[in-house]
Amino acid sequence: MTNKIKMITFDLDDTLWDNKPTITNAEIKTREWIEDRVGTIEWGDLNDFLQLRETLIKKDRSITWDISKLRIEIFKEKIKGLASADDITKLAEDAFDYFLKKRHEIKLFPGVESALKTLSENYMLGVLTNGNADIYKLSIGKYFEFSISSLEAQNSKPNKSHFELAKSHLPNLKYSEMLHVGDHQINDILGAHALGIEVLWFNNTRAIWKQDFENPDQFYDWQNLAKIIEEKYESR
Ligand SMILES: [Mg+2]
Repeated sequence: MTNKIKMITFDLDDTLWDNKPTITNAEIKTREWIEDRVGTIEWGDLNDFLQLRETLIKKDRSITWDISKLRIEIFKEKIKGLASADDITKLAEDAFDYFLKKRHEIKLFPGVESALKTLSENYMLGVLTNGNADIYKLSIGKYFEFSISSLEAQNSKPNKSHFELAKSHLPNLKYSEMLHVGDHQINDILGAHALGIEVLWFNNTRAIWKQDFENPDQFYDWQNLAKIIEEKYESR
């Protein structure tokens, strides 16, 4: 049996689990945690958040890809005036630790664990995420030989940094021997495809393909993934 593919990389958020309920819960719980300590805070809406993000990026460019730092800085801004200058940093960092703990309370899509187990027997598996979930804090961490976040890549997908770092995990690996699996049309599929990496689009929401290259192969259900990969890439 020859395998064209030697390494499979996976996005995390919205690929292995549904991210919205996870983040929403973490956000709400962390706001409560902070308000328990400093009193009521005006959190603002999405526009306020985006404006604050812009302001923070102007002061520190690394905030474009360091989303943990972004969150801590936002907490600091919100706590400002409600705690002593000495306490602000400590509170913001503790709030972020609490957020991270809640952010790892995820529910895997059905079939994820068994697909990863099967695939890990034949391929090197890795994680490529723009988020700050740590796969090694989850039970499925054992199936992955590496994990690259935006912090390590110092950039975000679709930039090539994540993919380049992944490639460096196997000597002489070619991009055409890699397969990337993800939900995001641009960050995952366009980013990987542009380098010549094979792609599988996780499209459980049955979204319309909107990019200007050929519709990639897609799957809707993790229960089928190992079989799809076997049929597509493993010749006997
Ligand atoms: Mg995603």
